[in-house]
Amino acid sequence: MSSSVIDFIATEARFGAHNYEPIGVVLSRGEGVWVWDTQGNRYLDCLSAYSAVSQGHCHPKILAAMVEQAHRLTLTSRAFHNDQLALFYEEIAALTGSHKVLPMNSGAEAVESAIKSVRKWGYEVKGVPDGQAEIIVCANNFHGRTLGVVGFSTDPETRGHFGPFAPGFKVIPFGDAAALAGAITPNTVAFLVEPIQGEAGVVIPPAGYFTEVRELCTAKNVMLVLDEIQTGLGRTGKLLAEQHEGIEADVTLLGKALSGGFYPVSAVLSNNDVLGTLRPGQHGSTFGGNPLACAVARAAMRVLVEEGMIENAARQGARFLEGLKDIRANTIREVRGRGLMLAVELHPEAGRARRYCEALQSKGILAKDTHEHTIRIAPPLVITSDQVDWALERFAAILTQDFS
Ligand SMILES: *Cc1c(COP(=O)(O)O)cnc(C)c1O
Repeated sequence: MSSSVIDFIATEARFGAHNYEPIGVVLSRGEGVWVWDTQGNRYLDCLSAYSAVSQGHCHPKILAAMVEQAHRLTLTSRAFHNDQLALFYEEIAALTGSHKVLPMNSGAEAVESAIKSVRKWGYEVKGVPDGQAEIIVCANNFHGRTLGVVGFSTDPETRGHFGPFAPGFKVIPFGDAAALAGAITPNTVAFLVEPIQGEAGVVIPPAGYFTEVRELCTAKNVMLVLDEIQTGLGRTGKLLAEQHEGIEADVTLLGKALSGGFYPVSAVLSNNDVLGTLRPGQHGSTFGGNPLACAVARAAMRVLVEEGMIENAARQGARFLEGLKDIRANTIREVRGRGLMLAVELHPEAGRARRYCEALQSKGILAKDTHEHTIRIAPPLVITSDQVDWALERFAAILTQDFS
Protein backbone atom coordinates (compact mmCIF):
# COMPACT_ATOMS: atom_id res chain seq x y z
CA MET A 1 0.00 0.00 0.00
CA SER A 2 1.26 3.47 -0.82
CA SER A 3 1.35 6.15 1.83
CA SER A 4 -1.70 7.90 0.39
CA VAL A 5 -3.92 4.90 1.07
CA ILE A 6 -2.64 4.66 4.61
CA ASP A 7 -3.29 8.36 5.09
CA PHE A 8 -6.92 8.24 3.98
CA ILE A 9 -7.69 5.22 6.11
CA ALA A 10 -5.77 6.42 9.16
CA THR A 11 -7.28 9.89 8.96
CA GLU A 12 -10.78 8.47 8.78
CA ALA A 13 -10.01 6.31 11.77
CA ARG A 14 -8.58 9.22 13.73
CA PHE A 15 -11.43 11.70 13.24
CA GLY A 16 -14.44 9.62 12.30
CA ALA A 17 -16.90 7.80 14.52
CA HIS A 18 -16.12 4.12 14.04
CA ASN A 19 -19.62 3.07 13.07
CA TYR A 20 -18.37 1.25 9.95
CA GLU A 21 -15.63 -1.25 9.30
CA PRO A 22 -14.80 -0.68 5.60
CA ILE A 23 -12.80 -3.05 3.42
CA GLY A 24 -9.29 -1.59 3.03
CA VAL A 25 -9.72 0.09 -0.34
CA VAL A 26 -9.88 3.83 -1.05
CA LEU A 27 -12.01 4.56 -4.11
CA SER A 28 -11.65 7.68 -6.19
CA ARG A 29 -13.52 7.05 -9.45
CA GLY A 30 -16.39 5.02 -10.87
CA GLU A 31 -17.92 4.29 -14.24
CA GLY A 32 -20.67 1.75 -14.92
CA VAL A 33 -19.94 -1.45 -13.01
CA TRP A 34 -16.33 -0.44 -12.34
CA VAL A 35 -14.63 1.56 -9.60
CA TRP A 36 -10.97 2.52 -9.29
CA ASP A 37 -8.89 3.03 -6.16
CA THR A 38 -6.39 5.80 -5.57
CA GLN A 39 -3.65 3.63 -7.07
CA GLY A 40 -5.57 3.04 -10.27
CA ASN A 41 -6.56 -0.57 -9.51
CA ARG A 42 -9.89 -1.46 -11.06
CA TYR A 43 -12.67 -3.41 -9.30
CA LEU A 44 -16.04 -4.78 -10.31
CA ASP A 45 -18.47 -3.28 -7.82
CA CYS A 46 -20.61 -6.12 -6.46
CA LEU A 47 -22.23 -4.00 -3.76
CA SER A 48 -23.46 -0.94 -5.71
CA ALA A 49 -23.58 1.08 -2.50
CA TYR A 50 -26.15 -1.34 -1.06
CA SER A 51 -28.12 -1.19 -4.35
CA ALA A 52 -28.21 2.59 -4.63
CA VAL A 53 -26.00 2.65 -7.72
CA SER A 54 -28.16 0.26 -9.72
CA GLN A 55 -27.89 2.40 -12.85
CA GLY A 56 -24.07 2.12 -12.72
CA HIS A 57 -21.56 4.62 -11.38
CA CYS A 58 -21.79 8.17 -12.73
CA HIS A 59 -24.43 7.37 -15.31
CA PRO A 60 -23.93 10.10 -17.95
CA LYS A 61 -27.63 10.94 -18.37
CA ILE A 62 -28.29 11.25 -14.63
CA LEU A 63 -25.10 13.29 -14.32
CA ALA A 64 -26.24 15.63 -17.10
CA ALA A 65 -29.65 16.09 -15.49
CA MET A 66 -28.02 16.83 -12.14
CA VAL A 67 -25.55 19.36 -13.53
CA GLU A 68 -28.19 21.07 -15.66
CA GLN A 69 -30.56 21.37 -12.70
CA ALA A 70 -27.79 22.48 -10.33
CA HIS A 71 -27.11 25.40 -12.66
CA ARG A 72 -30.77 26.46 -12.59
CA LEU A 73 -32.27 25.86 -9.15
CA THR A 74 -31.39 23.47 -6.30
CA LEU A 75 -33.64 24.17 -3.32
CA THR A 76 -36.80 26.14 -2.77
CA SER A 77 -38.19 24.27 0.26
CA ARG A 78 -41.82 23.24 0.04
CA ALA A 79 -42.84 26.75 1.10
CA PHE A 80 -42.97 27.42 -2.64
CA HIS A 81 -43.69 25.28 -5.66
CA ASN A 82 -40.90 24.35 -8.06
CA ASP A 83 -41.04 23.24 -11.67
CA GLN A 84 -39.63 19.74 -11.06
CA LEU A 85 -41.77 18.29 -8.27
CA ALA A 86 -44.98 17.94 -10.30
CA LEU A 87 -43.07 16.17 -13.08
CA PHE A 88 -41.42 13.84 -10.57
CA TYR A 89 -44.86 13.01 -9.10
CA GLU A 90 -46.35 12.38 -12.49
CA GLU A 91 -43.51 10.14 -13.63
CA ILE A 92 -43.11 8.09 -10.45
CA ALA A 93 -46.91 7.61 -10.26
CA ALA A 94 -47.02 6.48 -13.88
CA LEU A 95 -44.06 4.13 -13.37
CA THR A 96 -45.37 2.47 -10.21
CA GLY A 97 -49.14 2.88 -10.56
CA SER A 98 -49.35 4.81 -7.28
CA HIS A 99 -51.82 7.58 -6.56
CA LYS A 100 -50.08 9.61 -3.91
CA VAL A 101 -46.42 10.42 -3.36
CA LEU A 102 -44.50 11.86 -0.41
CA PRO A 103 -40.90 12.81 -1.29
CA MET A 104 -38.24 12.46 1.40
CA ASN A 105 -34.45 12.05 1.41
CA SER A 106 -33.03 8.96 3.11
CA GLY A 107 -34.63 5.54 3.19
CA ALA A 108 -35.04 5.65 6.96
CA GLU A 109 -36.95 8.91 6.60
CA ALA A 110 -39.33 7.25 4.16
CA VAL A 111 -39.89 4.47 6.72
CA GLU A 112 -40.50 6.98 9.52
CA SER A 113 -42.89 8.91 7.28
CA ALA A 114 -44.81 5.74 6.46
CA ILE A 115 -45.10 4.87 10.14
CA LYS A 116 -46.48 8.31 10.94
CA SER A 117 -48.90 8.15 8.00
CA VAL A 118 -50.32 4.68 8.72
CA ARG A 119 -50.80 5.57 12.37
CA LYS A 120 -52.69 8.70 11.36
CA TRP A 121 -54.73 6.67 8.89
CA GLY A 122 -55.47 4.19 11.69
CA TYR A 123 -56.86 6.90 13.98
CA GLU A 124 -58.68 9.00 11.40
CA VAL A 125 -59.95 6.41 8.93
CA LYS A 126 -59.91 2.97 10.56
CA GLY A 127 -61.08 4.31 13.91
CA VAL A 128 -58.37 2.92 16.21
CA PRO A 129 -58.51 4.60 19.65
CA ASP A 130 -55.90 7.37 19.91
CA GLY A 131 -52.49 6.16 21.07
CA GLN A 132 -53.34 2.47 20.55
CA ALA A 133 -52.12 1.86 16.98
CA GLU A 134 -50.05 -1.27 16.49
CA ILE A 135 -47.66 -1.99 13.62
CA ILE A 136 -46.46 -5.51 12.95
CA VAL A 137 -42.88 -6.02 11.74
CA CYS A 138 -40.66 -9.05 11.12
CA ALA A 139 -37.75 -10.51 13.03
CA ASN A 140 -34.37 -9.74 11.42
CA ASN A 141 -35.83 -6.71 9.67
CA PHE A 142 -33.73 -3.85 8.41
CA HIS A 143 -35.52 -0.55 7.85
CA GLY A 144 -32.78 1.97 8.64
CA ARG A 145 -31.01 3.59 11.56
CA THR A 146 -33.25 6.27 13.04
CA LEU A 147 -34.41 5.95 16.63
CA GLY A 148 -37.97 5.01 15.70
CA VAL A 149 -36.76 2.33 13.31
CA VAL A 150 -34.02 0.73 15.44
CA GLY A 151 -36.56 0.49 18.25
CA PHE A 152 -38.27 -2.40 16.44
CA SER A 153 -35.08 -4.04 15.17
CA THR A 154 -34.34 -7.48 16.61
CA ASP A 155 -30.58 -7.17 16.11
CA PRO A 156 -28.86 -6.48 19.47
CA GLU A 157 -26.04 -4.67 17.60
CA THR A 158 -28.52 -2.31 15.94
CA ARG A 159 -30.60 -1.45 19.01
CA GLY A 160 -28.23 -2.02 21.93
CA HIS A 161 -27.96 0.96 24.33
CA PHE A 162 -30.02 3.26 22.10
CA GLY A 163 -33.24 2.97 24.10
CA PRO A 164 -35.75 3.81 25.45
CA PHE A 165 -37.77 3.14 22.34
CA ALA A 166 -41.24 4.02 21.09
CA PRO A 167 -43.96 1.44 21.81
CA GLY A 168 -46.52 0.19 19.28
CA PHE A 169 -44.58 -2.49 17.40
CA LYS A 170 -45.05 -6.23 17.44
CA VAL A 171 -42.45 -8.62 15.99
CA ILE A 172 -43.34 -11.85 14.16
CA PRO A 173 -41.17 -14.32 12.19
CA PHE A 174 -40.53 -13.49 8.51
CA GLY A 175 -42.15 -15.72 5.91
CA ASP A 176 -44.83 -17.03 8.29
CA ALA A 177 -48.34 -15.96 7.25
CA ALA A 178 -49.97 -17.85 10.13
CA ALA A 179 -47.92 -15.74 12.56
CA LEU A 180 -49.28 -12.62 10.89
CA ALA A 181 -52.84 -13.90 11.14
CA GLY A 182 -52.32 -14.54 14.85
CA ALA A 183 -50.75 -11.15 15.54
CA ILE A 184 -53.36 -8.88 13.96
CA THR A 185 -55.75 -7.20 16.44
CA PRO A 186 -58.45 -4.56 15.89
CA ASN A 187 -55.77 -1.94 16.65
CA THR A 188 -53.34 -3.15 13.97
CA VAL A 189 -52.86 -0.42 11.39
CA ALA A 190 -50.04 -1.85 9.28
CA PHE A 191 -47.72 -4.71 8.48
CA LEU A 192 -44.28 -3.34 7.56
CA VAL A 193 -42.07 -5.84 5.74
CA GLU A 194 -39.27 -6.21 3.18
CA PRO A 195 -40.19 -8.37 0.14
CA ILE A 196 -36.75 -9.98 0.49
CA GLN A 197 -34.75 -9.33 3.65
CA GLY A 198 -31.58 -7.74 2.31
CA GLU A 199 -29.41 -6.92 5.29
CA ALA A 200 -30.47 -10.17 6.96
CA GLY A 201 -28.58 -11.93 4.15
CA VAL A 202 -30.93 -11.93 1.13
CA VAL A 203 -33.63 -14.04 2.79
CA ILE A 204 -36.37 -14.97 0.31
CA PRO A 205 -39.74 -15.93 1.82
CA PRO A 206 -41.58 -19.11 0.75
CA ALA A 207 -43.59 -18.89 -2.49
CA GLY A 208 -47.15 -17.79 -1.83
CA TYR A 209 -46.25 -15.92 1.37
CA PHE A 210 -47.07 -12.48 0.03
CA THR A 211 -50.27 -13.66 -1.60
CA GLU A 212 -51.46 -14.81 1.83
CA VAL A 213 -50.15 -11.64 3.47
CA ARG A 214 -52.07 -9.55 0.96
CA GLU A 215 -55.29 -11.46 1.61
CA LEU A 216 -54.91 -11.18 5.39
CA CYS A 217 -54.21 -7.45 5.27
CA THR A 218 -57.19 -6.83 3.00
CA ALA A 219 -59.52 -8.96 5.15
CA LYS A 220 -58.46 -7.19 8.37
CA ASN A 221 -58.16 -3.67 6.96
CA VAL A 222 -54.44 -3.54 7.71
CA MET A 223 -52.16 -1.47 5.47
CA LEU A 224 -49.49 -3.59 3.78
CA VAL A 225 -46.33 -1.46 3.76
CA LEU A 226 -43.61 -2.93 1.57
CA ASP A 227 -40.12 -1.57 2.17
CA GLU A 228 -38.78 -1.80 -1.39
CA ILE A 229 -35.91 0.58 -0.67
CA GLN A 230 -33.45 -2.17 -1.59
CA THR A 231 -35.58 -4.59 -3.65
CA GLY A 232 -37.34 -1.93 -5.72
CA LEU A 233 -36.49 -0.30 -9.05
CA GLY A 234 -35.38 -3.40 -10.88
CA ARG A 235 -32.98 -4.96 -8.39
CA THR A 236 -34.83 -8.30 -8.32
CA GLY A 237 -35.54 -8.38 -12.06
CA LYS A 238 -38.94 -6.68 -11.81
CA LEU A 239 -39.66 -3.00 -11.25
CA LEU A 240 -40.98 -3.87 -7.78
CA ALA A 241 -40.37 -7.16 -5.98
CA GLU A 242 -44.10 -7.36 -5.16
CA GLN A 243 -44.68 -8.19 -8.84
CA HIS A 244 -43.05 -11.60 -8.37
CA GLU A 245 -46.22 -12.59 -6.50
CA GLY A 246 -48.59 -10.40 -8.46
CA ILE A 247 -49.67 -8.40 -5.43
CA GLU A 248 -49.91 -4.67 -4.72
CA ALA A 249 -48.89 -3.04 -1.48
CA ASP A 250 -50.98 -0.25 0.04
CA VAL A 251 -47.82 1.70 0.78
CA THR A 252 -44.49 1.24 -1.03
CA LEU A 253 -41.19 2.71 0.10
CA LEU A 254 -38.48 3.57 -2.40
CA GLY A 255 -35.01 5.05 -1.90
CA LYS A 256 -31.48 4.06 -2.82
CA ALA A 257 -31.60 3.60 -6.63
CA LEU A 258 -34.28 6.28 -6.93
CA SER A 259 -31.37 8.67 -7.51
CA GLY A 260 -28.94 6.23 -9.14
CA GLY A 261 -26.55 7.05 -6.31
CA PHE A 262 -26.19 10.76 -7.02
CA TYR A 263 -28.20 12.21 -4.19
CA PRO A 264 -30.36 11.01 -1.29
CA VAL A 265 -33.90 10.69 -2.66
CA SER A 266 -36.64 8.54 -1.15
CA ALA A 267 -40.39 8.37 -1.49
CA VAL A 268 -43.47 7.00 0.19
CA LEU A 269 -46.02 5.86 -2.40
CA SER A 270 -49.57 4.97 -1.53
CA ASN A 271 -52.46 3.44 -3.42
CA ASN A 272 -55.18 4.66 -1.08
CA ASP A 273 -55.96 7.36 1.41
CA VAL A 274 -52.98 6.78 3.74
CA LEU A 275 -51.01 9.80 2.54
CA GLY A 276 -54.28 11.66 2.12
CA THR A 277 -54.52 12.01 5.92
CA LEU A 278 -51.54 14.39 6.02
CA ARG A 279 -52.54 18.07 6.25
CA PRO A 280 -50.39 21.18 5.91
CA GLY A 281 -47.93 21.53 8.75
CA GLN A 282 -48.23 17.92 9.94
CA HIS A 283 -45.16 16.51 8.21
CA GLY A 284 -42.29 17.85 6.16
CA SER A 285 -38.64 18.04 5.22
CA THR A 286 -36.53 21.02 4.16
CA PHE A 287 -34.88 19.04 1.37
CA GLY A 288 -37.69 16.59 0.55
CA GLY A 289 -38.98 17.17 -2.98
CA ASN A 290 -36.34 19.73 -3.88
CA PRO A 291 -35.85 20.45 -7.58
CA LEU A 292 -32.35 18.97 -7.72
CA ALA A 293 -33.54 15.71 -6.15
CA CYS A 294 -36.55 15.60 -8.46
CA ALA A 295 -34.49 16.20 -11.60
CA VAL A 296 -32.00 13.49 -10.55
CA ALA A 297 -34.74 11.00 -9.69
CA ARG A 298 -36.56 11.65 -12.96
CA ALA A 299 -33.42 10.86 -14.93
CA ALA A 300 -32.64 7.84 -12.72
CA MET A 301 -36.10 6.34 -13.36
CA ARG A 302 -35.95 7.18 -17.06
CA VAL A 303 -32.64 5.40 -17.77
CA LEU A 304 -33.73 2.38 -15.74
CA VAL A 305 -36.62 1.84 -18.15
CA GLU A 306 -35.19 3.21 -21.41
CA GLU A 307 -31.98 1.24 -21.16
CA GLY A 308 -33.67 -2.04 -20.28
CA MET A 309 -31.95 -2.38 -16.93
CA ILE A 310 -34.83 -4.22 -15.27
CA GLU A 311 -34.88 -6.94 -17.94
CA ASN A 312 -31.11 -7.07 -17.80
CA ALA A 313 -31.25 -7.61 -14.03
CA ALA A 314 -33.52 -10.61 -14.57
CA ARG A 315 -31.31 -12.05 -17.32
CA GLN A 316 -27.92 -11.46 -15.74
CA GLY A 317 -29.24 -12.36 -12.29
CA ALA A 318 -30.29 -15.78 -13.56
CA ARG A 319 -26.89 -16.26 -15.19
CA PHE A 320 -25.04 -15.17 -12.03
CA LEU A 321 -27.16 -17.44 -9.81
CA GLU A 322 -26.65 -20.47 -12.10
CA GLY A 323 -22.92 -19.78 -12.22
CA LEU A 324 -22.67 -19.53 -8.44
CA LYS A 325 -24.64 -22.75 -8.03
CA ASP A 326 -22.22 -24.48 -10.40
CA ILE A 327 -19.24 -23.69 -8.17
CA ARG A 328 -18.30 -26.90 -6.39
CA ALA A 329 -16.76 -25.79 -3.11
CA ASN A 330 -17.25 -27.20 0.34
CA THR A 331 -17.06 -23.68 1.76
CA ILE A 332 -20.55 -22.97 0.33
CA ARG A 333 -23.62 -23.75 2.38
CA GLU A 334 -26.22 -22.11 0.16
CA VAL A 335 -26.49 -19.80 -2.83
CA ARG A 336 -29.66 -17.76 -3.22
CA GLY A 337 -30.96 -14.73 -5.02
CA ARG A 338 -33.54 -13.11 -7.19
CA GLY A 339 -32.49 -10.90 -10.07
CA LEU A 340 -29.23 -9.20 -9.15
CA MET A 341 -29.85 -9.47 -5.41
CA LEU A 342 -27.68 -12.49 -4.63
CA ALA A 343 -25.91 -14.08 -1.69
CA VAL A 344 -23.49 -16.87 -0.97
CA GLU A 345 -23.85 -18.25 2.53
CA LEU A 346 -20.71 -19.98 3.75
CA HIS A 347 -20.48 -22.89 6.13
CA PRO A 348 -19.66 -21.52 9.59
CA GLU A 349 -16.48 -23.68 9.56
CA ALA A 350 -15.29 -21.93 6.39
CA GLY A 351 -14.40 -18.84 8.41
CA ARG A 352 -15.76 -15.30 8.31
CA ALA A 353 -17.20 -13.99 5.05
CA ARG A 354 -15.08 -10.90 5.45
CA ARG A 355 -11.92 -12.93 4.75
CA TYR A 356 -13.41 -14.02 1.45
CA CYS A 357 -14.41 -10.44 0.61
CA GLU A 358 -10.83 -9.33 1.25
CA ALA A 359 -9.56 -12.13 -0.99
CA LEU A 360 -12.08 -11.11 -3.67
CA GLN A 361 -10.71 -7.57 -3.47
CA SER A 362 -7.26 -8.87 -4.41
CA LYS A 363 -8.88 -10.42 -7.52
CA GLY A 364 -10.60 -7.18 -8.55
CA ILE A 365 -14.03 -7.67 -7.02
CA LEU A 366 -15.62 -5.62 -4.27
CA ALA A 367 -18.31 -7.43 -2.32
CA LYS A 368 -19.56 -7.05 1.22
CA ASP A 369 -20.07 -9.59 3.93
CA THR A 370 -23.21 -9.51 5.98
CA HIS A 371 -23.99 -11.39 9.17
CA GLU A 372 -20.63 -13.08 9.59
CA HIS A 373 -21.05 -15.92 7.07
CA THR A 374 -22.80 -14.41 4.06
CA ILE A 375 -21.31 -12.66 1.03
CA ARG A 376 -23.85 -10.38 -0.59
CA ILE A 377 -23.60 -9.81 -4.35
CA ALA A 378 -25.47 -6.90 -5.93
CA PRO A 379 -23.70 -5.43 -8.97
CA PRO A 380 -25.14 -2.51 -10.95
CA LEU A 381 -28.03 -3.59 -13.20
CA VAL A 382 -26.00 -2.63 -16.30
CA ILE A 383 -23.66 -5.61 -15.90
CA THR A 384 -23.06 -7.63 -19.10
CA SER A 385 -22.82 -11.42 -19.59
CA ASP A 386 -19.05 -11.15 -20.09
CA GLN A 387 -18.70 -9.24 -16.85
CA VAL A 388 -20.85 -11.80 -15.01
CA ASP A 389 -18.62 -14.59 -16.33
CA TRP A 390 -15.50 -12.62 -15.40
CA ALA A 391 -16.85 -12.24 -11.85
CA LEU A 392 -17.86 -15.91 -11.62
CA GLU A 393 -14.31 -17.07 -12.46
CA ARG A 394 -13.03 -15.01 -9.55
CA PHE A 395 -15.74 -16.12 -7.14
CA ALA A 396 -14.93 -19.73 -8.05
CA ALA A 397 -11.22 -19.17 -7.44
CA ILE A 398 -11.81 -17.64 -4.01
CA LEU A 399 -14.62 -19.87 -2.80
CA THR A 400 -12.62 -23.02 -3.48
CA GLN A 401 -9.96 -21.76 -1.06
CA ASP A 402 -10.34 -22.38 2.64
CA PHE A 403 -9.72 -19.46 4.98
CA SER A 404 -10.77 -21.16 8.20
C1 LIG B 1 -30.98 0.80 3.07
C2 LIG B 1 -32.34 0.45 3.56
C3 LIG B 1 -33.07 1.34 4.37
C4 LIG B 1 -32.50 2.63 4.89
O1 LIG B 1 -32.12 3.53 3.90
P1 LIG B 1 -31.13 4.74 4.29
O2 LIG B 1 -31.10 5.57 3.05
O3 LIG B 1 -29.81 4.13 4.63
O4 LIG B 1 -31.73 5.44 5.45
C5 LIG B 1 -34.36 0.97 4.73
N1 LIG B 1 -34.87 -0.19 4.35
C6 LIG B 1 -34.20 -1.07 3.58
C7 LIG B 1 -34.85 -2.35 3.16
C8 LIG B 1 -32.90 -0.79 3.18
O5 LIG B 1 -32.21 -1.68 2.44
